[in-house]
Amino acid sequence: MFDDQLSPASAAPAAAEPASLDWTRKLVSFDTTSRESNLGLIETVRDHLAGAGIESILSYDADRRKANLFATVPDAGGGTQGGIVLSGHTDVVPVDGQKWDSDPFAPEVRDGKLYGRGTCDMKGFIGSALTALPQIMSTRLSKPVHFAFSYDEEIGCVGAPVMLADLAARGIRPSGCIVGEPTSMRVIVAHKGINAFRCCIRGQAAHSSLTPQGLNAIEYAARLITFIRDIADEFRANGPYDHAFDVPFTTAQTSTIKGGNALNTVPADCEFQFEYRNLPGVDPEAVLTRIREYIDGDLLPRMRREHAIGAVELSKIAAAPSLDASEEAAVTQLVRALTRDTDVRKVAYGTEGGQFQQAGIPSIICGPGNIEQAHRPNEFVSLEQMAECDRFLGRFVDSLAVRD
Ligand SMILES: [Zn+2]
Repeated sequence: MFDDQLSPASAAPAAAEPASLDWTRKLVSFDTTSRESNLGLIETVRDHLAGAGIESILSYDADRRKANLFATVPDAGGGTQGGIVLSGHTDVVPVDGQKWDSDPFAPEVRDGKLYGRGTCDMKGFIGSALTALPQIMSTRLSKPVHFAFSYDEEIGCVGAPVMLADLAARGIRPSGCIVGEPTSMRVIVAHKGINAFRCCIRGQAAHSSLTPQGLNAIEYAARLITFIRDIADEFRANGPYDHAFDVPFTTAQTSTIKGGNALNTVPADCEFQFEYRNLPGVDPEAVLTRIREYIDGDLLPRMRREHAIGAVELSKIAAAPSLDASEEAAVTQLVRALTRDTDVRKVAYGTEGGQFQQAGIPSIICGPGNIEQAHRPNEFVSLEQMAECDRFLGRFVDSLAVRD
């Protein structure tokens, strides 16, 4: 929500503007809330890369309203295989209902911070990567550098798999990936997997005085919700545990529910959404199998004994695999060397890193800004963090230079 009463008349001049400020401002000025098209941003980046002689590969969603962009700066010998991906998502979360002190899509510098939706999560990193282009182009690279900018990360990492499938089909195999999600420029080596589902329980409506003639969808939804809670309790009580995470075990919960239409009617429908977040090493499919076995072996037969109409529909809303980076992977060692950060940090939020990793591209998370600022009103990235990312990418490009 824009409230110009609260907006200062002019921004104070920054002591030292990071080189990536211009690009980041430009990227934030596109409203790429996940429900909107991101093509304006993608085409601007594509045209800029084309101006430098770099061709982009766009992979679109089904409606062609959104696209991923993948582009490669070849190595000194013209090679395009292997190399490191600089990865970021172009979409941002909505600002609906949030009270902002300035227009979220008119980025503004105040007190050494750049404010705007996506400054932190995560257009600051993309801006920094694009700012590094001239240096990348003028360096004799020992291996290629790739840009991978996706759509629809914020609604469940939906865009990146389209790009990864396209790269696989084209036989493009990068050897590592840096995902620039906000980590305050520290190295994150692992995150949990996210698995989200919608479940619809179908029963039979009847007058509430005639319950034996109906099939109560809410009551059977409650049984299944309780079963999911039991799984969560089991993980909490018995592990496995990884104490590098804030919540050191796999979690599960039901998040929304709706059902029924009148007090005196047996409810025919109940719909709920649930998710579980698995530690790396816990197989998300095994959790789903337990839930399906309970539905098929217990819940559904009980429902059908009451009424033949009984049905349970389970559909996946989103799935993003966990990330568990190898310390031996070259990209992990490179980013550790460039940041001089040797701590082992694991985080609760999901990223596309797990998808790159699953596609055979070792991945690591490191980017500017603090995750605390992500998704909030008055989201910002500090100019200091932007400058630190610029320096990091400068060292990154230097490290890829051919040494004669
Ligand atoms: Zn993000």
